[in-house]
Amino acid sequence: MKTRVFPLAMLSLCVLSTSTLMRSSAQEPKAIFMDFTQPLEKRVDDLLSRMTLEEKLALVHADSKFTTAAIQRFGLPRRWLSDGPHGVREDVGPDTWLPAGRTDDFATLMPALIGLASSWNLELASAYGKVIGEEARQRGKQIMLGPGMNIMRTPLNGRNFEYPGEDPFLSSRMVVNYIRAVQAEDVSSCAKHFAANDQETERGRINVEMDERALREIYLRPFQAAVQEANVHTIMSAYNKFRGTYCSENDYLLNKILKAEWGFRGLVMSDWGGTHSTKGAVLGGLDLEMGTDILPYDKFFLAGAFRAGLNSGEFPMAVLDDKVRRNLRQILTVKAIEGRAPGALNTKDHQATARRVAEESIVLLKNDNSALPLDSKQIKSVAVIGENATLLQAYAGGSARIKVFYEITPLEGIVRRAGSDVNISYSQGYAEKENEELAARAVRAASQADVVIYIGGLNHRLGYDAEAKDRPDMKMPYRQDELLQRLVETNPRTIVVLYGGGPMEMGPWLAKVPAVLQVWYPGMEGGNAIARVLFGDANPSGKLACTFPKRLEDSPAHAMGNYPGKDGVVKYEEGLLVGYRWFDTKNVEPLFPFGFGLSYTKFDYSNLRLVPGAKDGMLTAEFDVRNSGSRDGAEVAQLYVQELKPRLARPVKELKGFGKVFLKAGELKTVSIALDRNAFAFYDPAQKGWASEKGEFKILVGSSSRDIRLEGSTRLTQTILEK
Ligand code: BGC
Repeated sequence: MKTRVFPLAMLSLCVLSTSTLMRSSAQEPKAIFMDFTQPLEKRVDDLLSRMTLEEKLALVHADSKFTTAAIQRFGLPRRWLSDGPHGVREDVGPDTWLPAGRTDDFATLMPALIGLASSWNLELASAYGKVIGEEARQRGKQIMLGPGMNIMRTPLNGRNFEYPGEDPFLSSRMVVNYIRAVQAEDVSSCAKHFAANDQETERGRINVEMDERALREIYLRPFQAAVQEANVHTIMSAYNKFRGTYCSENDYLLNKILKAEWGFRGLVMSDWGGTHSTKGAVLGGLDLEMGTDILPYDKFFLAGAFRAGLNSGEFPMAVLDDKVRRNLRQILTVKAIEGRAPGALNTKDHQATARRVAEESIVLLKNDNSALPLDSKQIKSVAVIGENATLLQAYAGGSARIKVFYEITPLEGIVRRAGSDVNISYSQGYAEKENEELAARAVRAASQADVVIYIGGLNHRLGYDAEAKDRPDMKMPYRQDELLQRLVETNPRTIVVLYGGGPMEMGPWLAKVPAVLQVWYPGMEGGNAIARVLFGDANPSGKLACTFPKRLEDSPAHAMGNYPGKDGVVKYEEGLLVGYRWFDTKNVEPLFPFGFGLSYTKFDYSNLRLVPGAKDGMLTAEFDVRNSGSRDGAEVAQLYVQELKPRLARPVKELKGFGKVFLKAGELKTVSIALDRNAFAFYDPAQKGWASEKGEFKILVGSSSRDIRLEGSTRLTQTILEK
């Protein structure tokens, strides 16, 4: 860490003010804000009433890249914020994006959020959040900038890996557990990016237009759940505009929906560099300005110019007070004054959680003739091929990058697991620049091995799965399609392991290879998790959190010609039909459907019972799932609802429940999924509320969105509108 040298005069000033505070607190009765037994709101009001204008202003803008200023006379320490969703980022700054040069800022790297979502395991979402919370506390961070919860509208979004996929229900369930677990550790979460930041192309100025139903039913759902169910402390506004106004000053999104309708009491911060005007930020609902690219910090929109506007009477003091209250709530909630217990970094538990999430996130897309799992006793030689077998993923991708304690690469994982009796070779196969020699060497290695394990796909370089830029297309880069065809022609036992934050085209080679695993970005234990799945120590149980289209043009935004927008505007004309909602309603055959994933065992579904609840619209779906194969494993049973005669057009079916069950070979368990009126409701823009209407609904239970095993039906006898 850098040592700061303070001039002597400044030092004595500090000593003076601290001793004044200490004297007064010893003599006077304890201030309400210092009394930790008092209700939060009383403490906030009390503290606010003692603050000067300058102290208040200090809380609504940054004083370095990731901090806001300390207010020492109240014992408020400097407030540290940190990226991000997959672990606690390396410290940068204070005033630059360059590393701060510390040696104590390593962290655990968890699998990317798209992987967590693909596990469909809510306990793991909580375990994941606990790791983030404990590590953040140990690293002295008050606010963790995650989870991201933008919806996968296009396969090309460079940040798809940071988000939980295409379905608002699955996303909501995941982020709620994640956030609750982080915040249980006395660390604030930040739900980002609010809202409709669904592409990186022109993210700083693109104007998103969509209808109210798509907004409410798809894009806002995870945020609403984060606020109303998980009580998330902070929200980050998005870079883009929404209906013509920047999200950081969007009265409709921030003041009307988030704060007034949903009752959000926490703070809204800008994305870094996402604030555009003082008046807009002051009146549009922004409470904390971060990352504006200007120095000194008093030039921030919510600093000097805000002060001037308050002094001239342009802005009422009440607007500032509201912002400060929101900041103080967050600060006091995470025990900033009383101090928090120490956290923990890189514990055995954290490592185990990272590995479990990785294992359960892996999706087995294809497995002809039980090509997997591999039997290490029968295999003499393996050719590991592909750059991702050895590429470290932790340090790249944008703000989600991590200075990781260690990262087990797939090659390391495979070498460790296969044991010394298996002869393992490695060839890179491809590189950024076309390289026939690398390819030829890989083909030669393939010809000499019993099995090829190809580890490729995407990476975090700019233009693939990385912030600030979208992917150019849905193809695998570096001529991997060609290489894979050559490999499988040479050695038909070519197992394909794909990294990537979303769908990839597999047309040219998919039919020829026996097995494919999608591993997303599996974090620092990824190599171990991959090896355990390949060799059958773990049975894959992940299911796709996004549709894999056959071709990019099949995917809704692209089919409608609405990506990346024209003249600075992107129109979401596909409306509600995002992801499988589009493919199912329009009868487009995907490559792999939403919710799909194979296992090394088999699951049978039977005996659907729909048990009515106490009120109209309440229902429990019970059914039996049996592991009818010979290996232990887990199944994600999914429940979709279809309204038979909707008054307003609806997607053909929508996910409304799921359960992940672990079953020993031969075991049967009853799964029970409770539904309430929300499962049947749609947003009625004319009545500005959620309508669940009288009528007939199908309940579809299955192993994926396109593998429905059981069907039942139910009726709502009453129409109800909830505002
Ligand atoms: C990203 C945010 C991130 C912030 C701080 C921005 O570029 O969009 O997600 O939290 O930087 O690093």
